[in-house]
Amino acid sequence: MKNGNVALVEKSAITELLFGDLWHYAPAPESTAVTKIKPQYGHFINGNWEDGAEHFPTINPATEEILSHFPEADENTISKAVDAARNAYKRYWKTISGIERAKYLYKIGRAIQERAREFAVLETMDNGKPIKETRDVDIPLSAAHFLYYAGWADKLDYAFPGVKPQPLGVAGQIIPWNFPLLMAAWKLAPALATGNTVVLKPAETTPLTAALLAEVIQEADLPPGVVNLVFGAGKTGAALVRHPDLDKVAFTGSTDVGKRIQKSVAGTHKRLTLELGGKGANMIFEDAPIDQAVDGIVQGIYFNQGHVCCAGSRLLVQESIAEEVIQKLKIRIASLRLGNPLDKNTDVGAINSQPQLAKIQELVASGIEEGAHLWAAPCELPSKGFFYKPSIFTEVAQSHRIAQEEIFGPVLSVITFRTPAEAIEKANNSPYGLAGGIWSDKGSKLFKLAGALRTGIVWGNTYNHFDPASPFGGYKESGYGREGGLHGLLPYIRI
Ligand code: NAP
Ligand code: MG
Repeated sequence: MKNGNVALVEKSAITELLFGDLWHYAPAPESTAVTKIKPQYGHFINGNWEDGAEHFPTINPATEEILSHFPEADENTISKAVDAARNAYKRYWKTISGIERAKYLYKIGRAIQERAREFAVLETMDNGKPIKETRDVDIPLSAAHFLYYAGWADKLDYAFPGVKPQPLGVAGQIIPWNFPLLMAAWKLAPALATGNTVVLKPAETTPLTAALLAEVIQEADLPPGVVNLVFGAGKTGAALVRHPDLDKVAFTGSTDVGKRIQKSVAGTHKRLTLELGGKGANMIFEDAPIDQAVDGIVQGIYFNQGHVCCAGSRLLVQESIAEEVIQKLKIRIASLRLGNPLDKNTDVGAINSQPQLAKIQELVASGIEEGAHLWAAPCELPSKGFFYKPSIFTEVAQSHRIAQEEIFGPVLSVITFRTPAEAIEKANNSPYGLAGGIWSDKGSKLFKLAGALRTGIVWGNTYNHFDPASPFGGYKESGYGREGGLHGLLPYIRI
């Protein structure tokens, strides 16, 4: 793209067009009456709630209000939880039939569906993501994950014909804050379906839906100790990984922490799967349906404030259509409503924490410093809470940090290409290899290019679509192991 060739749409013109009187939305806040947040929670160990010596608060990042307090697990608490999981594994969980395990998983999945509104409101308050996303994506997909793996629990012999798959034993699982309940479901459902017991550590900033899930698990009469939750920050996670009586460690989070976990587990008998970061390339070819592609770009990077490991955070657009795509994109982005995550009309909610906001700001500053051009949506930021305007960087060079590092925020880096070969070379020029998207009218081209992308997931003419039946995982520094689908059973069995 030539410098200055993109006719920048005047901010005022867009604002007038989209936020004139005609387009004002009345507030439509979801009620929080459905949730009863306790002032303090405990660890969930052997079916009981256990307090600890040290506590930390969890806040609502949209208001900065403290929602509740959680205890921080030390090594003794972790040992207690692992012992409970080991006992439950030996005494009960590994001995019952797959049909029995399935019944529990169905119960948990159904209970999540029944309490979906409560889960959605709680997740939105604790995480900052818009209610329409928790309501329509996080919570239904979490329930679907339990129901899907319930279906496998009594069919493992058919999943792996000719062998008798055996559970591994006790799994230590660590999850991030960007999809708190969904990541818990991704970890727990396949582990339980295959006969393993679990100690799970939710992220420090988003423990509330895990605590509600523990309530659901109690109500489902899951035998005590099959699922245990320990709360805390990185130190707690590291101590859990070190515990000698784990058979398996499953981690979702940053590549940096993933590498540290890999070192900690090296030389032990523990199996390891790592779901790490990404810098997805969303590639738009000149034969693509442009209007749909523009919506796909928005879905790819502004969904969940860009706090998505598989986000299409690099837009690779063919030079011949770059000007048109960027024009249309700016108009579309200017129509996104940023603000109160509990409002049913909100498209872009709060950044999950102050440190995450600072990380986004630091990387954006580096982009400007290195010579890229920043455009930000003409919207107002609320006076309280952590918010960031949906933004686009153009004139991005491959070597810029904003083209290589995960910003994990609503910031898109635009890079142009001329030929399919150049597009693939640029898309693969990344230490990550989690996800990518291809937009083209030609199916044959789409399949050929998908095969050349060094990523675990490729979406064709869509982006950020998830299904429990579909495996998810990375290449290169995005980790190894798959979650979802038949493949998602493998990390939890011995065959
Ligand atoms: P993170 O800092 O790596 O934290 C992930 C989890 O690990 C949290 O529960 C964290 O605890 C814990 N942790 C931190 N230090 C640890 C240590 N030394 N040992 C063991 N556990 C430790 O990542 P994040 O910032 O929460 O999440 C964002 C990252 O996750 C992004 O890079 C994103 O791409 C990645 N992600 C990947 C996938 C995938 O499927 N590939 C999905 C979602 C997110 P605290 O947070 O409580 O400190
Ligand atoms: Mg929180």
